[in-house]
Amino acid sequence: MANINEVMNTAKGLADLAGKKAGEAVEVSKLKINNIKINGEIQKSYEKLGAFVYKFRKNGEENSALVDMCVKEIDELLAVLEQNEQKINETRHKAKCPDCGTLNDLQAVYCMKCGTKLQHETEDQYVEMNVASTEPETSATPGCGCAQTCGQAEKTCGEDQPENPSCGCE
Ligand SMILES: [Zn+2]
Repeated sequence: MANINEVMNTAKGLADLAGKKAGEAVEVSKLKINNIKINGEIQKSYEKLGAFVYKFRKNGEENSALVDMCVKEIDELLAVLEQNEQKINETRHKAKCPDCGTLNDLQAVYCMKCGTKLQHETEDQYVEMNVASTEPETSATPGCGCAQTCGQAEKTCGEDQPENPSCGCE
């Protein structure tokens, strides 16, 4: 028979784990959002570079310093993008130890550093959830919409949806 302390510890452990998993997913989401921004910057730099090259060619000028500056700027942005992609891959395609944070191979059952048993969950679900939660939420209740007026629902609803499970006003 499991005593109450064991049950409580297990519950707490699961809660902690869920918290850490969510944190990881947030990290991935942040990196993804960051990459979208960086991609935007890169596009701007390409445009700038294109505009310079166009102007120089049109006027028969030469300004390789300016072009070099743009190339360097783009290279730096691409490097950051690459780093972020790597971090995302590391976080998503590795099993992170819930105890020490070491990134283990996905196939690993135990952490190679501290020996903690690794959890294998589909992190993509968490990621999708976190990405979805950044979208503006609509407060509209699906169904007949009489949830707001519950208590006198049968009078205000007036729609023939007595079975509607989202209604909740019997
Ligand atoms: Zn570990």
